[in-house]
Amino acid sequence: MSAAFDEKIHETLTDPKLQLAIYKATGRLVEERRKSIEPDVCPDYQELRTHAHAIKRHTIEHLDHYLEEFTRQVEAHGGQVIFSKDAEEASDFVLSLAKERRAHLIVKSKSMTTEEIDLSERLEHHQLESVETDLGEYIIQLAHERPYHIVAPALHKTREQVADLLTERLGVPRETVIEKQTMIARAVLREKFLAADIGISGANFLVADSGTVVIVENEGNARLTTSAPRIHIAVAGIEKLIPRAQDLAVFLKLLGRSATGQRLTVYTSFLSGPKRGDEIDGPDEFYVVLLDNGRTKLLADRGKRQSLYCIRCGACLNHCPVYRKIGGHSFPWVYSGPIGAILIPQFLGVRHEPGLPFASSLCGACAEVCPVKIDIPRILLELRSEVKKAEAREGAGRLERLAFRIWAWVMRHPRIYEMAGMAAASLAPSESAGWVRHAPFNVGPLRAWLSQRDLPPPAAKSFRQLWRER
Ligand code: SF4
Repeated sequence: MSAAFDEKIHETLTDPKLQLAIYKATGRLVEERRKSIEPDVCPDYQELRTHAHAIKRHTIEHLDHYLEEFTRQVEAHGGQVIFSKDAEEASDFVLSLAKERRAHLIVKSKSMTTEEIDLSERLEHHQLESVETDLGEYIIQLAHERPYHIVAPALHKTREQVADLLTERLGVPRETVIEKQTMIARAVLREKFLAADIGISGANFLVADSGTVVIVENEGNARLTTSAPRIHIAVAGIEKLIPRAQDLAVFLKLLGRSATGQRLTVYTSFLSGPKRGDEIDGPDEFYVVLLDNGRTKLLADRGKRQSLYCIRCGACLNHCPVYRKIGGHSFPWVYSGPIGAILIPQFLGVRHEPGLPFASSLCGACAEVCPVKIDIPRILLELRSEVKKAEAREGAGRLERLAFRIWAWVMRHPRIYEMAGMAAASLAPSESAGWVRHAPFNVGPLRAWLSQRDLPPPAAKSFRQLWRER
């Protein structure tokens, strides 16, 4: 584990206000999800998960086909598809279009994909004003932070903190009532919508058979982002494809429930190209930027490619005992929680933050709640093994490997194992848990390892001894 990761975790664990904010917010989401999938409310919930997994598996295995079909359909409706291999290519396209159209102001709706490529920062670097219009995203943009959670980006902020932020950044009177804070943001953002030259959104789904970008949201800001400005650009990962419009029936039922416990989100927008001749609303120009940024690398690995099935519902974060303690900003990239722990090593390399695949108790809650049945614990185990292999190649972790080799040897020799057990029993104090921290071998590199682990005191007599005696 890197020192930065360790430090962030420590900061979060020692901040009681933050601990309470994370615990309450994720707890609320867990409870809402639980109620929304009760058998009397959603009797086919497990079948929907199985179905969603099958659709995603089929799509990812035939991704080339569906990418072509989607592109054909978008173009047939007057839009344009741009394939970007990385963050730079995607932002270069947006920048050159903005320059050509003399754009100055860009409004954005919530999108983890644009967070992934730091699009706002890149645009601002080129003197373009880029404004987040989702309330949570707007708050964290004002705070110059990155999202804390993939569904609730400002989950860690209390209303008092938001009140201070709005006063400091917008010069408005301090207001702690959430509805009034929303009205303050709304007044600012409404002006931005009306003046914006370009609207940038993400996409929850890309429907191949109709070339449709589907966006779900609760605030209506995505609908304004994609219809008020003259130009709409949707930036989406290539894994967002689904084959047919009728598949949406499965995913829309799962996404709202898994994310916020809603049967359906408040707004579901279906966007297929620029406005037609007889339409009043909609953009004149419509672009879909399809982002690779490491995704095709994942396709090559049959075991781990299911990481691309993720529909970014956030349920695995809310249910993860580790995320609920260490929070979102401990993670070294925009994706956090269990899905972050498997995506980051695969996108950025296992050595980027070697502690990530180990930031899990392997309790399995993530796999149990995942609406598309991604086997996160199994992928974590594979990634752990890759971290250890990479360390071995670099000559790191020698001591740990030696210790486990000795352990394996002892386990294969019952007589030695028994003698080691008897020796440990005679040396260890019998009275209490926590003895291991006062043991004479709790020094040097073992100290850090043992600081987070405990062992019950060895029994006075081993099982074998008791067996023989009886
Ligand atoms: S891995 Fe599954 S539970 Fe986690 S965000 Fe993705 S779809 Fe949701």
